[in-house]
Formats: sequence, structure tokens, C-alpha cells
Amino acid sequence: MPVENFEVGVIGAGYVGLATAACLAHLGHRVTCLDNDEERVTSLKDGRVPFYEPGLEELVIRTASAGRLSFAGTEEMAGVVRDADVVFIAVGTPQGDDGSADLSNVAAVARTIGRSLADSSRERPLVVVNKSTVPAGSGDYVSMLIGEGAGGEEVADFLVVSNPEFLREGSAVYDTLFPDRVVVGADSREPLETLRVLYEPIISQSFPTPMDPRPKAAVPFVATDLASAEMIKYAANAFLATKISFINEIAGLCELTGADVRSVASGIGLDERIGARFLNAGIGWGGSCFPKDLSALRAAAREYGYETPLLDATVAVNERQRERVIEKLQAELHTLKGKRVALLGLSFKPNTDDLRGAPSLEIAHTLTSLGAKVVGYDPVAGKAAAKLLSTLKIHFDPYEAIEGAQAAVVVTEWEDVRGIEPERVASLMRHPKLVVDGRNALDAASFREAGVLYRGFGRG
Ligand code: NAD
Repeated sequence: MPVENFEVGVIGAGYVGLATAACLAHLGHRVTCLDNDEERVTSLKDGRVPFYEPGLEELVIRTASAGRLSFAGTEEMAGVVRDADVVFIAVGTPQGDDGSADLSNVAAVARTIGRSLADSSRERPLVVVNKSTVPAGSGDYVSMLIGEGAGGEEVADFLVVSNPEFLREGSAVYDTLFPDRVVVGADSREPLETLRVLYEPIISQSFPTPMDPRPKAAVPFVATDLASAEMIKYAANAFLATKISFINEIAGLCELTGADVRSVASGIGLDERIGARFLNAGIGWGGSCFPKDLSALRAAAREYGYETPLLDATVAVNERQRERVIEKLQAELHTLKGKRVALLGLSFKPNTDDLRGAPSLEIAHTLTSLGAKVVGYDPVAGKAAAKLLSTLKIHFDPYEAIEGAQAAVVVTEWEDVRGIEPERVASLMRHPKLVVDGRNALDAASFREAGVLYRGFGRG
């Protein structure tokens, strides 16, 4: 199929919006990315990505200098809506006070799109693609708000589509260009076809890439109705979180029975029906998506009076894993009052500076409340963590954080945290030289040989 180039608007220049905008521009589309954060827009116009995401800044600079990617504030929305074939909504949907998804950003954007549509004379329908994670049924709500934004006038020239995003922070560009699948949900055929053409270079893997061999031969295009596409996103995240909580529950039993959860995980993971990924036992899941998405899914179920015992247990097991860290520290240090505890890695996972839902914050908070002196190390998220937790003293070298500590906790398995040297750790720490490996990322035997008291999760 020949590549057709579209005029695209992307609203929201965060991890998802910016990766989408830059990758669509890389495919040959002309993209304008809008955000209501002026500072963010200014920084992007200067070629600086305001958060840490490997490879994204290079792609932004390259596609912007080729004239296919530009940035603007939301005051430019009318012009974008007038000229675009497709407009993506990629704004945040954080957890609301009652646990449900807070759709206020999506709603504000939908109303503005409506107003802009009413002001513009378009001859073809605008496809509005919702990439933000929203509860099943929100597509209709977005359509209603666009209509409302247009002043209640009969605006027939737009179609709302759901296109949930599955990228992982830390590999956002790779995941956008080489996804496992592209899911698009709509209640009519026309916008599905538009998105199939927009994504054709990804579906057929026919865009320029320096990677040889290409990681994918072709990418499945999953066309569904609107509500199913919205549900696919929540179901995927809930399933992955459940897989982690499952192995964590087994890990607890491994500790009691003398089994090693890593052997158990590889033994079950080789079964193709189970699969090896998301079976790492440790302090559990966190981050900008899993906690809020599980919360939103459970809140949606409550709205219907529907019970979700499995999802409830997934969350409860995860909360227990955080407590297990504290218990492992208390088992060796006894009272934590006045003890220096180093948290190694603060972002919610390696290769990102994102601290939303990061286990480190929760653990630091509990340790501080128990009187411990908490210090932290992270190669990129240190300063941001210090702003969120004023009691947390930050170091920019893992050994500086470890020096003089009675205990260290591996919270995020950054490459340099994985690579800490047992002898150096042993020589810098104070008795009892406890390392709680919250990600089972270190070689237990070499730490024990060096004289470190090593405690992993589910390791016999
Ligand atoms: P983010 O917080 O990084 O970015 C959101 C951006 O939207 C920000 O730049 C913000 O300034 C902007 N914004 C908010 N309200 C706006 C408005 N009214 N007009 C214009 N811009 C506005 O969020 P994110 O991590 O990119 O997530 C976006 C959505 O994608 C969420 O629904 C999230 O659940 C989903 N998602 C995120 C990930 C991920 O790994 N981060 C993965 C898959 C799906």
C-alpha cells in the first residue's frame, strides 16, 4: 500500500503524546504537537525534551528539522483542528480522589476540539483519536463533549476512535515503532480505515530504521468496537499486574519452603501458555500506569455493583510486598530509629525519570516515619525525588549513598545498581551490612562471600 501522509495534531506532549508525535513524523506524516504547559512547549521548540526518555530527543530534533514536527500551545488548537486529518488526545488521566480515572484533562481537550470544529469550515470529517487511557464507554462521553464544545450545534463532521497505547517508559520510541499490536476501536468502518492507513508503515514495518534485522516482520492491526478497545488497555495492565502479584505470592511461599522463586519462574515461564515475562518477584509493581489503571478499573466495576476479587487481591498482594521490605529490614536491624538506609534507584523502573507511583517514595516515607535516616541514589531521578520528599538525602553515586549505611535496598534495577561491587559495598557499609534486593537483581552468592547480609525475595 502506498504511504499516505496525513496532517496530524497531537494534544499532550508527555511520554505518550511526544513519542506518538515524533514517531508519526518519522513515518512521514506532518505533525503538530500541542500542550497547555507553556514551559514544556518552549523547551520542545528549542529541541529539548523535558523528561528522560532514551532516543526521543534525537528523534524530535531530526523530525522537527525535517519540517515534519512542530510544537505549539493549545491556543493554536483552532488552526490544527481546521487543517488536520486526525487529532490525537494524549493527555494525562490520573487517579481521582475516589480511585476512578480523572477525565478532566480529556474533557477539557474534547470541549476545545468541539469549539474549534464549530469555528472551522471543514469539508471532511475529523477523526479524533483517544490515546489516553479511559474507562470503557468514555468514547461516547468524548463525542458528547465535543458536541457540547461546539455549542450544542449539530456537528456531524467528527468521528471518535480509541487507540490505546501500550508503550513502556524507557523504551517509548522502540515500542511505538515496533509494537506487538495496534489496537483501534470505532463504531463505524470509516475511521478504522483512516487509522489503518495512518499506521500502515508500522503495520507493514516499511519505514526507515537503522535496525537490522527488523525486530518485527509485520504488526497485527486489531480493529474492535470503541468500548472493547478501551477495555483492552485496562485488561492488559490488570493482567500484567496480576502476573507480578501472582509470582510475589509464590515467592513468599518459596521463602517458607526453601524453594528459589527464580527457578520456579523460569520453570513455569517456559510453558508457552504462561510465558516468561512479568514473573520477577520483588517489591512489586508501581509507576504512572498500573496503580491508577487498576484503581480505575476497580472503580468502574464498583459503579456497576460488580465485585472484582481477583483485582482486589492483585492490589493487596502488591501492598504486602512493600511491607515485606520493611519487615526484612526490621528482621536484621530491629528498630530502624537512627539507622541509615540507602535506597538504590528511585524512579519507578530503570531508564526513566518518572516517579509517579514509584515504590521508592512509599518505602522512603514509611522508613522516615519509623525514624530511619533515608538516603537515595538514582542516576536521573534524584533531584525530582528530593523535591517530592524533603527528608530524603540524595546522592549521585551509589557508593556515596551506601557509605556508612547499615542497610541498602535495591529499589530500581538501573544498570549501575545491578553492577555494584560486593567487596566495595561490604567495605563501605556498617554492621550488619544488610542488602535487601527488592528486584532479585544481584548475585546473592558473591555478596554473601564478601560479607554482606543478603536478602532477596523468594530466594529460599
Ligand atoms: P504525561 O503526564 O507525561 O503527559 C500529559 C501531557 O498532557 C502533559 O504534557 C500535560 O501538560 C498535557 N496536558 C494536560 N492537560 C492538557 C490540556 N487540557 N491541553 C493540552 N495539554 C494538556 O502523561 P503520559 O504518561 O504521556 O500519559 C498520557 C496518557 O497515556 C494517560 O492516559 C496514560 O494513562 C496513558 N499511557 C501512559 C503510558 C506511559 O507509560 N506513560 C503508557 C500507556 C498509556
